[in-house]
Amino acid sequence: MTQDTIREGGCGCGHVRYRMQGEPIMVHNCHCKLCQQQTGSTSVVNVFIESDNVDLLSGELTVHELGTGSGQRHTIHRCKQCGAAVWSHYPRFAELMTGLRAGTLDDPGSVTPDVVIFTDFKMPWVTLPEGIPAFGEYYDPRTTLPGQSVDRMRALAARGRAAEG
Ligand SMILES: [Zn+2]
Ligand SMILES: [Zn+2]
Repeated sequence: MTQDTIREGGCGCGHVRYRMQGEPIMVHNCHCKLCQQQTGSTSVVNVFIESDNVDLLSGELTVHELGTGSGQRHTIHRCKQCGAAVWSHYPRFAELMTGLRAGTLDDPGSVTPDVVIFTDFKMPWVTLPEGIPAFGEYYDPRTTLPGQSVDRMRALAARGRAAEG
């Protein structure tokens, strides 16, 4: 895995800045009702990567626990100053996986969704992108994502279990 790619991003007011190193494990475009409520928008684009590859460069975050479309809980980390959601953590992966909001990247076009999920809940006028697998609800990463992505997820889940044990 190459670690060369560096992306930076931040919130809407400039208080929070972060750096992400390396390519994402996977990128989800989620249209579930909870993502719509939590973002106030049509859907969210989450860039998943090992938390070890994300550095908070400046700013303070506040943490808010909420549900997700797949039934897990997650903690949304928001800029303390402007309230913009910057990333989430997921209990299944302890704090080891970060789901960055793609819209906070300085160059959000530098990542492309691997999957579009919960399309059963999409707003009726939203057109789905061509060439990206779309699922009515959740999906099976093991049969959809490249083996390398699945291996990285498994490694994080194993580390999370070890941390709990
Ligand atoms: Zn801010
Ligand atoms: Zn969602």
